[in-house]
Amino acid sequence: MAEAVYTRLMNRFAKHGGMYPGMDIPEFYDMASELFTPQEAAVAAAMPKGLSTAEQIAASLEVPVGEAEGVLKTMSRKGLCVSMGSQGSEAYALPPFVPGIFEFQFMRGTRTPKDRSLARLIHRYKQAVDAIQGVREISFPPTRVITVQERVEVGTTVRTYDQVSAYVENSEPIAVSTCYCRHEAELIDESDTCGMPNEVCMQFGTGAQFVIDQGMGRRISKQEAIDILRRSEQAGLVHCSVNRQNIDFVCNCCADHCVILKAALAQAKPGLALNSGFEPVIDAAECTACGECVERCPAKALAMSEEELVLLDLDRCFGCGVCATVCPTDGISMFAKAGYPEPPVDQTALRQAMRSAGS
Ligand code: SF4
Ligand code: SF4
Repeated sequence: MAEAVYTRLMNRFAKHGGMYPGMDIPEFYDMASELFTPQEAAVAAAMPKGLSTAEQIAASLEVPVGEAEGVLKTMSRKGLCVSMGSQGSEAYALPPFVPGIFEFQFMRGTRTPKDRSLARLIHRYKQAVDAIQGVREISFPPTRVITVQERVEVGTTVRTYDQVSAYVENSEPIAVSTCYCRHEAELIDESDTCGMPNEVCMQFGTGAQFVIDQGMGRRISKQEAIDILRRSEQAGLVHCSVNRQNIDFVCNCCADHCVILKAALAQAKPGLALNSGFEPVIDAAECTACGECVERCPAKALAMSEEELVLLDLDRCFGCGVCATVCPTDGISMFAKAGYPEPPVDQTALRQAMRSAGS
């Protein structure tokens, strides 16, 4: 009986697609039975695409509304579904594993035995799926980078969506949570740390409210959000988000652990799979050939020539600007790439673009 429920759950996640869909392999069932109780698995398997109410889910399962609602509230708390709306008019949706459920598990930054067990099971599932799927070619980028605003050359074209500070300015509330990629790695192996700041993943608006309500992050002021962005830039982290104009999160990512950067770096041309629409220009007159930018570049897009000139490989470059922030002579500025396409406006446009490109 319990096994049948988890098979239905696997089929439900298979329909979700995405980076880690449901797969009929032992690692799925080991992980799913740790994440979902049989009752939660039954509810999740019955959840349709998009938002639905407890009444609708209860009707499809033929159980009392109060019972379905109780399970859905617990699932929200556990990061197994998302909920929106206020008391009495809540709607629920089942997110994919990534982005979604996997991240929610580690955003609190806790280190319980259950966290460690889940981290191992999720990691094993991801490894098994990666081994089966191989390197997945990114034909239209689902994510994008936002360049370091302060290093953008004066006079170059900067759109609102190019400025991470604009999202901070225009969003309410804003939440911050622990970087789930770095935290998951530490839960599996405490020595697997890059020393980067951890409480730096930000959500905006409705997504932030969900994270705050479920205790997965804390509400922050606009000033604290700006401080976190600056601290992340100083550390050499890359601002990443979904590839649309109306973003609802910004992660501050490292190449050692971030699932977004690692997926891009596995591509033949990482700079085409993940980009900001900006590129660094090095002022040879200012450059002292110290090599700091080469050392820091997360894409290994920079190299020092025998003549001590910094060489840039645009096929690898994300346009993140962390090379510019480390340069001691301010010898690197970020310029907008001529003719670089605008990100899709919203999730519908992004899905359409990805479908058209065969992603
Ligand atoms: S060269 Fe490297 S650090 Fe500089 S913008 Fe490109 S990817 Fe970022
Ligand atoms: S960090 Fe600046 S000064 Fe040092 S090598 Fe790079 S461009 Fe030159």
